Amino acid sequence: MAEAGPLSVSLHPVLGHERARAALASAHARGVLPAALLFHGPRGIGKQRVALWLAQLLVCERPEHGPCDACASCRMALSLEHPDVHWYFPLPRPKNAAGDRLADALEEARLDELVEIREAPLRSSHSEEVRGLYVGTVKNIRAKAYKRPVMARGPVFLVGDADLLVPQESSPEAANALLKLLEEPPGGARFILTTSESGRLPATIPSRMVPLHLAPLPVADVAAFLERHASIDPKSAAWAAGLSQGSIGRALGFLADGAPTGPLEVLRSRALEIIVAATAQRASEAHVLALGFPSSQGRGLVEIFGFAEEWLRDLAAVAAGARSAVMNQDKLAELDRIVVQGGLTSFQIASAFGRVERARELTLANVNPQLVIGGLVRDLRRALARTPHAEALT
Ligand SMILES: [Zn+2]
Repeated sequence: MAEAGPLSVSLHPVLGHERARAALASAHARGVLPAALLFHGPRGIGKQRVALWLAQLLVCERPEHGPCDACASCRMALSLEHPDVHWYFPLPRPKNAAGDRLADALEEARLDELVEIREAPLRSSHSEEVRGLYVGTVKNIRAKAYKRPVMARGPVFLVGDADLLVPQESSPEAANALLKLLEEPPGGARFILTTSESGRLPATIPSRMVPLHLAPLPVADVAAFLERHASIDPKSAAWAAGLSQGSIGRALGFLADGAPTGPLEVLRSRALEIIVAATAQRASEAHVLALGFPSSQGRGLVEIFGFAEEWLRDLAAVAAGARSAVMNQDKLAELDRIVVQGGLTSFQIASAFGRVERARELTLANVNPQLVIGGLVRDLRRALARTPHAEALT
C-alpha cells in the first residue's frame, strides 16, 4: 500500500468496552471472527463506535491487539472514507422518492449525513425525527455486497439501530431482505449490526448472528470524555454524566451547546412537573399543567413517561431511605420535599407505575396529549393520596 496522504482523522477515540474489544481482536488474530455480529446494549453507549473500531481492525494492514491507527487503511477508516467500510444508519424517509428512486435517494441522504458526521462525529442519541432503515437501504447494501472490494479482503457493513429495520410488527420486509443476505453472505462480506432493542428484531436475524453485549460506561469515564472530546465544562460534564446511565449519547442529549438545556433536560423537567402537579395541594394544577401540552402528538411525550417512571423510582428510593440510589441526584432536595409533604410510602409509589404505563398506551393509540396528561395527573393523585378518599378533600 502506498503512503497515505494527509487524511484528517475525524472519529473520536473509542471509550471503554475493553474486554469486548480484546475478545474481538483475539478472535480476529486467530481467524475465527464470525462473519455476522450483533452488538446489543443500551442506547448511546458507543456500540456503533465499537463497530467502526472493528471495521477498522478488519481492514488494518498491520493489526496488533487492535488496529494500528497508522496505516493508510486505518486512517481512511478513521476518517470514514474507506471504500470497503460501509456504514448504514436510520434516515428520515426521503420525500418524493418511491420505487427504484427511493434506494438512490437513501444513498444520497446517507452520503450527505456522513459528511455531517465527519465534521461533528459526537452527537446525542436523542432525536425528534422519525427515522428508519428501509427495503431500499437493504437493496443498497446488497448491491455493494456483491461488488469486488476495492482494497480490503471483503466489504464490511455496519448497520446501526438495526431494530429500525422493523418499523412495525406488520412490516418486516426490510428485515427479511437483510436476512436473505445474512443467510448466504457473498464472498468475504462481513456484517456488524447494532441494536438497543434486540427484542424488536425478528428472531431469525439474531439466530444468524453471534451476539455481543456491550454494557453502560462508568459515569466518571463519561464525564471525563465529555470534558475532553466535547469541550464541556467540568461542572456540566459531571451533571450530564450523572444523568447519563453510562451513555455518552444520552449525556449529550441533556446538553445544548454545553449548557444544561438540552432536549432530554426539557423532557425530564416536564416529567417532574407532572409529578409535582400530582402531589400538589390543589387538584386544579393538573388542569393548568395539561393545557401547557400541545394538543397534537409529539414524539417526546412517550419519553416524558420514561422520565416520569424514573422520578417515581427516585421517590420510592427516597421513601425507602435509599438516597444514594436516587438517579436525579441534582433534585434530591425536591424529592425529599415531595415525599415528606405527601407522606408518601414506597407502596403507594409502586402502585403509581401502572398509571404511567396506561398513559403511554393511550399516547401510542394517538389520544390527545392534553387528555392523557390531565388523566395521568388525576390517576397519580389517586395512587399517591394519603388516604383513598383524600382526592375528595382537595
Ligand atoms: Zn492499521
